Amino acid sequence: MRPYILGDCTWKDIKDRSIELAVLPWGATEAHNFHLPYSSDVIESDNIASASAKKAYEAGAKIIVLPTIPYGVNTGQKEIKLDMNINPSTQYAIIKDLVEVLNYHKIYKLIIMNSHGGNDFKQILREIGLKFPKMFLCCCNWWQSLDKKNYFDHDGDHADEMETSMILHLAPELVLPLDQAGFGIEKKIKIKSLQQSWAWTERKWHLTTDDTGIGNPKSAAKEKGEKYFNAITDKMSQFFLEVANTDLNDLYE
Ligand SMILES: [Zn+2]
Repeated sequence: MRPYILGDCTWKDIKDRSIELAVLPWGATEAHNFHLPYSSDVIESDNIASASAKKAYEAGAKIIVLPTIPYGVNTGQKEIKLDMNINPSTQYAIIKDLVEVLNYHKIYKLIIMNSHGGNDFKQILREIGLKFPKMFLCCCNWWQSLDKKNYFDHDGDHADEMETSMILHLAPELVLPLDQAGFGIEKKIKIKSLQQSWAWTERKWHLTTDDTGIGNPKSAAKEKGEKYFNAITDKMSQFFLEVANTDLNDLYE
């Protein structure tokens, strides 16, 4: 039984306990090239959140990890069979309801730990923050917390070398042999300005990639995944610990 995971706890464990910080891991259910499972983002969320919370808990953080939300925003993937979409407005409703519970029980700190590129929580947290002024609402994309170039040979952003290495480390029984994976070649949009990071339009996924992946996964390895996972969970546990231990009445330098 892991005392920092709500799903593992009984009411006896929880009812008199002081909790400072709730972590909500958020994934997606979607195709990941030919070789990774639809649950890849959920597996990453579950494992990164629990390993990071363990480190933070052992360092004294009063932390609880809520169950991972398994559906994400997949509006650009509707042509890809059983890529399960929930809309941003649905995410708003889910977060508002969960924040209401936390706020009622005086757990005023929440971190949404995101595993999926289509999820974007900033605007939602701005709006919910107005309704719940006591709440300190944060979000993060774990894959942006470290420079991937220091760990992997090929860049990418979906079912790439990084993600394949992670799942090889976390759930190798669900990964097909890499000779069955596609190359994850991205077809870029013809409008040059939109190829740059300052301008944005949603990518139509079925026109962007033939195998649903973006990034060549062929050099992925379990050992690379393990090293990166350990570094990410070190970094994330620091974030959890820092938020848990900070006085909300004394936030600014
Ligand atoms: Zn993914």
